[in-house]
Amino acid sequence: MDLLTIGEFARASRLSPKALRLYDELGLLRPASVDPSSGYRFYDPRQLGRARLVAWLRRLGMPLARIVLVCDLPAPDAARAVAEYWSQVEADTDARRRLANLLVEQLSTQPLEEDTAMTDRQPTLAVRYAVRSDQGLVRDANQDRAYAGSRLFAVADGFGPGAQDPASAVAIEALRRLDAAIPAGSLLDALHGAVGDAGAAVREHLGADPARHGGGTTLTAMLWSGSQLALVNIGDSRAYLLRDGELRQLTHDHSVVQSMIDDGRLTADEAASHPQRAILLRALHDGEPAEPDLRLHDARPGDRYLLCSDGLHTVVGTDTLRDTLATVTDPHDAVARLLELTHAAGAPDNIACVVADVIDAPDHD
Ligand code: MG
Repeated sequence: MDLLTIGEFARASRLSPKALRLYDELGLLRPASVDPSSGYRFYDPRQLGRARLVAWLRRLGMPLARIVLVCDLPAPDAARAVAEYWSQVEADTDARRRLANLLVEQLSTQPLEEDTAMTDRQPTLAVRYAVRSDQGLVRDANQDRAYAGSRLFAVADGFGPGAQDPASAVAIEALRRLDAAIPAGSLLDALHGAVGDAGAAVREHLGADPARHGGGTTLTAMLWSGSQLALVNIGDSRAYLLRDGELRQLTHDHSVVQSMIDDGRLTADEAASHPQRAILLRALHDGEPAEPDLRLHDARPGDRYLLCSDGLHTVVGTDTLRDTLATVTDPHDAVARLLELTHAAGAPDNIACVVADVIDAPDHD
């Protein structure tokens, strides 16, 4: 069989001669023969399949060191390796997109160099709140936890073994140190750092006892300063805002059914009874650390926030949630009413719930 010169092989494979020389040096694509006196490289036409695969993988952006490994695998294993690489790219892109959105949001609402001045100029708001966690009517133990303090609100829905010592309690405990005065410009950093600490504390807790393997927790928390509110979410607990009579969900569930809704494969109504509705895509657990969603939000007097675990929002419909929050004025009464409604519907799961009302507080910080 006639060998091809490097120029002919480059044209046929759509790789440049320069790239072919590099791939030779890396051992990725060795020429079939090299002229001992001139040093010219010659290629076997049967090498075109491998060369074209290298070209495609380069177009995907795969690093050369990884291409070397993929090209030496049998086809089915190479297919799996490409799929794994692409999942990783998508996860990285997703994390970078969230970071970009966050920066856009932060820079739009609060220029970084004006952090301190902004804190001083912001209207000062206060919050009235009520918090409850409840075992429900079916579960043997309560793995849900809720916290409300002067600056911080959080709910966490623990899962897995170790019901007496749930990961939700560990996460909330790690987050509690945030319940202090924090400059508005540092809210997101503070919350992001604290959630990282909470994730580490959960992993340590679960790793300390093999019986806890496979456990974890969701975490939805709000931290506020001045009129700025930072929100973090991982899992399928939720934060809602009731403003001007409308109820808006502020968080996006990290669940299998939510991703099916996002892909158009399931409607919200079908999701309510889907057998996989409790399966989470992200949580604080003992597996690979997952990034939470973070966002900033401007609070206004009159806003009412609801944080709750799925024990409430999968049982009480959105219309009933809105009507209850819009008509029951006192936060304690509102929380009590939401628990009543959950029990009336059978309360199949634990429930964690915080209702927080934003009010004017001109003389206080
Ligand atoms: Mg639950």
